[in-house]
Amino acid sequence: MDKVVSLCKRRGFIFPGSEIYGGLQNSWDYGPLGAELKKNIKDEWWNRFVRQRSDMVGLDAALIMNPKVWEASGHLATFNDPLVECKKCHARYRADQTPGLAYSVEKLSTGIETKHLAVAQGTKCASCGEIWFLGKTLESPKQFNLMLKTFLGPAQEQANTVYFRPEIAQAMFVNFKNVLDTSRKRLPFGIASQGSAFRNEITPGNFIFRTREFDLMEFEYFINPKDWEKTFEYWLTEMKRWLHDLGVTSEHLHFVEVSKEDRAHYSQRTVDVEYDYPFGQKELYGLAYRGDFDLKSHAEKSGADLTYTDPEDQKNKFIPHVIEPSFGLNRSILVALLEAYDEEKIAGDEEDVRVVMRFPKWVAPVKVAILPLSKKDELAVIAKPLYAHLSKLFVCDYDETQSIGKRYRRQDEIGTPYCVTVDFETIADKSVTVRDRDTMKQERVLIAELDRYLSGKLTS
Ligand code: ATP
Repeated sequence: MDKVVSLCKRRGFIFPGSEIYGGLQNSWDYGPLGAELKKNIKDEWWNRFVRQRSDMVGLDAALIMNPKVWEASGHLATFNDPLVECKKCHARYRADQTPGLAYSVEKLSTGIETKHLAVAQGTKCASCGEIWFLGKTLESPKQFNLMLKTFLGPAQEQANTVYFRPEIAQAMFVNFKNVLDTSRKRLPFGIASQGSAFRNEITPGNFIFRTREFDLMEFEYFINPKDWEKTFEYWLTEMKRWLHDLGVTSEHLHFVEVSKEDRAHYSQRTVDVEYDYPFGQKELYGLAYRGDFDLKSHAEKSGADLTYTDPEDQKNKFIPHVIEPSFGLNRSILVALLEAYDEEKIAGDEEDVRVVMRFPKWVAPVKVAILPLSKKDELAVIAKPLYAHLSKLFVCDYDETQSIGKRYRRQDEIGTPYCVTVDFETIADKSVTVRDRDTMKQERVLIAELDRYLSGKLTS
């Protein structure tokens, strides 16, 4: 993990946020390569799940919504994490995620929940080293609401309090009728969205795994309730296919059926997609069958009619049910980086190790690097127009400094699939050398055929 974090900083994938002012608690900025990588993943997701499907439409909604939305969704009342505080240094931790603490919630048949916390003997505060005894040196858990508040308008009054959205799903429910009426879609169909969400996490950390501001890619797939089981299986398979294409090894993935006790009360099935991060097996994505809870709740609280009329039988009106596949964008980036990182020993030289990011080609931030063998004008007059031309087709880099070997290594380290070298023979034979990132094999290709050659390779 440390090697990936350091490569990200060194090569311009991800920087600590507000760094020159000492940073800001686990906030991160995506640099030149990170911005490209993020965009590739977002765009591919959008193309695959929205543009290439006739049963899906997109929505790009406001970050701040009417607070009544969060009342109806239950977020204001229940979007809490259990928080404990060390009485000595006042450091705060999540009761359910701190080593040495065992937190559980018992759901009674009456719907009432009782919470339990056990502290393993000898558990110490990670911040000050105090040994914890519940109620003495460690506060009993409190429920901490994760919604991030702000104020709309010039007066900071309770009446103006609004919340940054903690998830992006609610806008898709609130706009259900608008989308249905304007797109004239019939069940089953989905509304998809991408965008930022904010949670006042108690313990952000592990690089970009848990931050207070993050990006989500989600869709709400509306169905007739009779179809929920097969639709759930279908989307589970599609999520697996997406992860495979993102370059994630199936051995690193776990599809965990969430037990009835741990599921939301309205969900009949939820699968947590977990990944073996260097810091443990934790959530990557989620897939939930949410029944009709969300639309029903918004219909009740807003008074809007959110029913669907069966086109085959006009008398059959019902509130559609929903399957929600949820893809964290930042965690997608994290697993793409972790899976791609490789250190390869070069045959014949025990000391020589090349670092190579083996991204799938579509994920790689730079697709082609143009490398003139020397800075001399006679090569620049060929290489620069070639760069200008290829840049219209792919994200390209132009590098003319240091030895060609060093330049290849620099491109390997950022995962560039192809390097195109313009050398002195190019002047006569109108050909360039194309070097493959993974095999390191080189091939001579006519400049006139380079577009087609690279396009074929990059889409294979
Ligand atoms: P966790 O158990 O890790 O807190 P969660 O169950 O609260 O996650 P969801 O509410 O299901 O997560 O959010 C959907 C997705 O959003 C997650 O699967 C994850 O990819 C992403 N996600 C959630 N919280 C964060 C965060 N603080 N930082 C980055 N990504 C996040």
